[in-house]
Amino acid sequence: MKSEKYDFDLIVIGAGMIGIAISLAYSKKGLKVLLVEKNSSFGTGISSRNSEVIHAGIYYPKDSLKAKFCRRGMKLLYDYCKQKRIANKKVGKLIVQTSSCQENKLREIYKNGLANGCNELRVLDQNDLNKLEPEVKGLNAIWSPNTGIVDSHSCMETMILEFEKEDGIVVFNEFLSNIDPTNAGMECSLSDSTIIRTKKLINSTGLQSALLTHCIKGFPKEKIMQISLCKGTYFGYSKPVPFSHLVYPIPNKEGLGIHYTLDLNSEGRFGPDTEWVHNENYDLNEARTEQAFIEIRKYWPKCDPSKLRPIYSGIRPKIGTKNKFHKDFMIQSSEQHNIPGLINLFGIDSPGLTSALALAEYLSDHYI
Ligand SMILES: Cc1cc2nc3c(=O)[nH]c(=O)nc-3n(C[C@H](O)[C@H](O)[C@H](O)COP(=O)(O)OP(=O)(O)OC[C@H]3O[C@@H](n4cnc5c(N)ncnc54)[C@H](O)[C@@H]3O)c2cc1C
Repeated sequence: MKSEKYDFDLIVIGAGMIGIAISLAYSKKGLKVLLVEKNSSFGTGISSRNSEVIHAGIYYPKDSLKAKFCRRGMKLLYDYCKQKRIANKKVGKLIVQTSSCQENKLREIYKNGLANGCNELRVLDQNDLNKLEPEVKGLNAIWSPNTGIVDSHSCMETMILEFEKEDGIVVFNEFLSNIDPTNAGMECSLSDSTIIRTKKLINSTGLQSALLTHCIKGFPKEKIMQISLCKGTYFGYSKPVPFSHLVYPIPNKEGLGIHYTLDLNSEGRFGPDTEWVHNENYDLNEARTEQAFIEIRKYWPKCDPSKLRPIYSGIRPKIGTKNKFHKDFMIQSSEQHNIPGLINLFGIDSPGLTSALALAEYLSDHYI
C-alpha cells in the first residue's frame, strides 16, 4: 500500500467476530470496505477466549441492545452455520436453582426470557431435572433448548473468506495511529505513513475501544469511555464430566456465574470466574481453583477439587468501573460525539459472539 492514496466507503478497525461480521454486512451492500487488524491474524482477541455458546437471550433486560441483538443474532448465526456448514450443536442449557431462596430469582429469569421472546423455555422440577442431568443437584431449573455451541474460529474464517469474495480488503499487522476527521470523512495514517481516506469508520477494537478514541483528532474528551477489564478464568476437569447439556447457576451481580460448557469435541470446562484486572494479561492462577470449586459443588456435589485446574482465560470489556458498570452494549455515533461517519462500539462482552450478525445487520441498515 506504500505511498498511494486509497479511498474507502468504510474502514472497520479490529478483526474479531464483531468487526468481521460488520465488514461482511457492509461489503454485501456494495460498499468498499477495508478491515484493519493490529495482530497477524483474525480473532486473536476476546473472540478466541470465550465459551463459544450461542445464547438464547434469556437474561438481558427487555429492549436492551443485548436482548435485541442476542435473540436475532442467535437465529442469524444458526442459519449462517447451516448455510456454510460451520460446526455447531443445539445442546440445550439448564439454569439451576440450588437453594430455596433463589426461587423468586429463577421465576424472574423465566419471565424475563418470555418477555424477550424465548417462548421455548420450560421450568423443570427436581424430577425432570434429574432425568436430564442425574448428577446435577437442584430444586428447579429453566430448560433452554435453543442454546447451543459453535466453532467460532471457523465462523470467523468463513466470514473473512466471504468478505474477500465481496472485494473486501483485510490488512493484518497494521495499527491506525492517527485518525483525522475531515469534511469528506476521515483521513487515517497507516504505520508506514500512508494516508488513507474513508467516508466512515467503525471502531470495533474490543478491549482497546477506548484507547482508539484517543487517536481521533478532536474527539470530545467527555465521550471517551472508561473501559474496565474483567478477567474470567476457565477450569478443566481431568475426568469426563457426566453432563450432556450446558449447566448454569443463577447469575450473580457480575455475570452468569461459574457454569459448565462443552465444546464440539464434547470436552467440558467450568468458568469463567470474575477478577477485575488493570491490564490485559491472560496468566493462570492455581489459587483461583478453590473458589471455583465452592461455586461448582453447589450444583455438582460430586465435583472433586483435585481434578480441577485453570486452563485458559478471557477478558470482558466493561464500560465503567468494578462498582458501577453499564450492563449493555454501547453504539456511539455522531449523535453523541458530533463526528460524522464515526461509530464506536463499547462494552461488547457476552453475548457478543451470538449477537455479531444482528449487530452488523443493524449497523449496515441504519448507518449506510
Ligand atoms: C470470558 C468470556 C466469555 C464469553 N462467552 C461468550 C459466549 O459464550 N457467547 C457469546 O455470545 N459471547 C461470549 N463472550 C463475548 C464475545 O466473546 C465477545 O463479545 C466478542 O468476541 C467480541 O468481539 P470483538 O470483535 O468486539 O472483540 P475482539 O475479538 O477482541 O476483536 C477486536 C480486535 O481489534 C484488534 N485491535 C485492537 N486495537 C486495534 C487497533 N488500534 N488497530 C487494529 N486492530 C486493533 C484486536 O487485536 C482484536 O483482534 C464472552 C466474552 C468473554 C470475555
